[in-house]
Amino acid sequence: MSREMSRQEELFFAQKLAAEPTLAAFLNNQVTNGQNFMQQAAKLYVCERCESGALAHGSGYACPHCGYKSNTRNTRVRDFIKGGYWR
Ligand SMILES: [Zn+2]
Repeated sequence: MSREMSRQEELFFAQKLAAEPTLAAFLNNQVTNGQNFMQQAAKLYVCERCESGALAHGSGYACPHCGYKSNTRNTRVRDFIKGGYWR
């Protein structure tokens, strides 16, 4: 597993994702198919409205938490964490 995230960042991450059943189910499915949990999670988008993780949808993303749909793809979870926006 990649260690580029700190323990604190991983915790933040796990808490965010576990709060959203759709994302938890998506990631569980990816892991079942042999994907790395953190790598898959880092590829998710961040909803610009509620800051939940969001899934790629069409040319943008769809947020399973607040239902917001965007036509453009913006921040990924990875960049969000690296940028320290969550602190
Ligand atoms: Zn949202």
